[in-house]
Amino acid sequence: MPQKFDYIIIGSGLAGLQLAYRLSLDPFFNDSQIAIIDPSTKEINDKTWCFWEKGTGKWDTIITQSWNHGKFISTNNNIDLDLAPYSYKMLRSIDFYNFIKATINDKSNFYLILDEITEIDETNSLAIGKNNNYAATHFFDSRISSAFLEDPNCTKIFQHFKGFLIKTRPPVFDKSTFTMMDFRVKFPDSTSFTYVLPLSDSEALIEHTFFTPFLTEESIYDTYLETYIKDILHIDQYEILDTEKGVIPMTDHDFHKESTLKVTKIGTAGSWVKGSTGYSFKHTENKIELLVRNIKSGKDPKQGLLNTRSRFYDAIFLDVLDRRNDLGERLFSKFYTKNSPQEIFKYLDEETGLKEELKIMISLYHPQFITSFFRKLF
Ligand SMILES: Cc1cc2nc3c(=O)[nH]c(=O)nc-3n(C[C@H](O)[C@H](O)[C@H](O)COP(=O)(O)OP(=O)(O)OC[C@H]3O[C@@H](n4cnc5c(N)ncnc54)[C@H](O)[C@@H]3O)c2cc1C
Repeated sequence: MPQKFDYIIIGSGLAGLQLAYRLSLDPFFNDSQIAIIDPSTKEINDKTWCFWEKGTGKWDTIITQSWNHGKFISTNNNIDLDLAPYSYKMLRSIDFYNFIKATINDKSNFYLILDEITEIDETNSLAIGKNNNYAATHFFDSRISSAFLEDPNCTKIFQHFKGFLIKTRPPVFDKSTFTMMDFRVKFPDSTSFTYVLPLSDSEALIEHTFFTPFLTEESIYDTYLETYIKDILHIDQYEILDTEKGVIPMTDHDFHKESTLKVTKIGTAGSWVKGSTGYSFKHTENKIELLVRNIKSGKDPKQGLLNTRSRFYDAIFLDVLDRRNDLGERLFSKFYTKNSPQEIFKYLDEETGLKEELKIMISLYHPQFITSFFRKLF
């Protein structure tokens, strides 16, 4: 192990490993000594990531499933979503971890280290670990600071969910179509819905998700999942093969403001999770591309990573959901009935211009947006 690394990546999760993978493929970094430090060996499947992209992508060899058609369902709408040229893709985290670790293990300038970092001593350029201290020129840090929970000025919504991976007898699923959101079974006066990702005609991952300011007991998810499977999908006989649970902060908290000249916060800790959706897989890929371009041209790695206008829209939307959580079904119904999936994906990918964004804003209109606009403006 070198006395000093060029780069230390703290956290071998989504952002840390995507960054390590990107650096490992680029000859520019062949002479750089790079450490990835995490207390976890990442040997379990702890998440299922879904994301959309146009055509083929860099994870296609390891994705579990992809769909070109989806559905949005609410009490009054049942909309078919023809996604082309986009596909909606599903990737199991264990396949991602194994794939990237295998690539990095072949590189003599990459070091995967098991340790928990407690702090970064910027004066001495050291990451202080429980087992050792590690010197580096620059740190990429995916640790989330607890300041988020104490920030009185940010909106805090939680995307929290539980899913069952089920196997049915007889086969019931159409594996060519997934359900993006179905609001027919929902927690009263709140934004909660179910989504269905069919893997074959007899297997699907079904998750009940909340976008709410509150968290809930585990039995609530179980009840809603069982009701959905029985009353909506009309499935009586099934086996639960696996479960997935998670909480994603949906917030306008400025996590990234903890970055400094020596430390670039990445992933959730760098505000890379889109506040209004909780998605971050594809955003992470795009931000890492930009970050690497910055390093190679001698700029501050974090320069231009965040889109201020999109963060403002997200902040308004989160404030609306925080104040009027009962509006969720109505707002998402407007979103999906008045805009095409291509317009929606482009907007959520933060690739739209002002005119396209105004069209989306108008399509969502509710008086609460005006109040929230001014609340977030000042
Ligand atoms: C269950 C679940 C499902 C999700 N599904 C989707 C999805 O479908 N699509 C999507 O786009 N987003 C999804 N997300 C949101 C987002 O993509 C993930 O949260 C993503 O993992 C965030 O990436 P990250 O690198 O910031 O954090 P993580 O992937 O959590 O990685 C952080 C890493 O830092 C390590 N670490 C923490 N503290 C220390 C320390 N002190 N020292 C060293 N290492 C440390 C952790 O062990 C971990 O490995 C999901 C989130 C969850 C929780």
